[in-house]
Amino acid sequence: MRQTRRRFLTTTAAAVGSVTLLPYAGHAAHHSSDVFSANGSDIKVHPVSHASFVMETPVGTIFVDPVGDAAAYADFPSPDLILVTHQHGDHFKAETLAALVKQDTQIITNPAVHDMLPADLKANASRIANGESTDFKGLGIDAIPAYNTTEGRLKFHPKGRDNGYVLGFEDFRVYISGDTEDVPEMRGLKNIDLAFVCMNLPFTMDVEAAASAVAEFKPKFVYPYHYRGRDGGTQDPKAFAQLVGDAVKVKMGGWYG
Ligand code: ZN
Ligand code: ZN
Repeated sequence: MRQTRRRFLTTTAAAVGSVTLLPYAGHAAHHSSDVFSANGSDIKVHPVSHASFVMETPVGTIFVDPVGDAAAYADFPSPDLILVTHQHGDHFKAETLAALVKQDTQIITNPAVHDMLPADLKANASRIANGESTDFKGLGIDAIPAYNTTEGRLKFHPKGRDNGYVLGFEDFRVYISGDTEDVPEMRGLKNIDLAFVCMNLPFTMDVEAAASAVAEFKPKFVYPYHYRGRDGGTQDPKAFAQLVGDAVKVKMGGWYG
């Protein structure tokens, strides 16, 4: 399937100044992809599966929470940077990392995952905790708290352990939620151009909570992701899109094939 839909958007929010974003559906051999353009630099987004995706960016190729068979990543350039949000099996698998990491690959994780890395991977890795920031080739990376707030779910993602990330490309800021509910740290985000927002129950949140948070921090674009559950339950991304309305452009990635 090849999509040729192209939309031209004029950014009206003062938040991103005069940046004009030109999203269009791209095409890769086995993956859907989208390209976002800011100041002439392309950021290509390739959803791989559930919580795993690849971004080709001006600072290199970034893998986020790569898990599963390394063959699923064979179509992409090798990773310059790998971000891991937390230790759950749908986000972190040491064997997958070992198969993907090259000599120069930098891995950035939350502290709990860093502690779990085998020594050979640890040599390529650094950690940042909630509220901390780091830098990769000039790309600012902020660790945003990701946690549950609802009684009965607190054990899944206890506050203080797991990361979301904000990536500060020049004039283009990307938020990756990790596994979280609609916490104040998400609702209070500013100037986000592209967001990846999780949803599923009982581990994260439902479409109503996710849409409510997105309506508050108003990214320019949002991918609903991580919307199926282990038990086969699902949060409907189309319902999410309806709740979000027109203020934010909802991107549907091919997360589940
Ligand atoms: Zn999780
Ligand atoms: Zn998860």
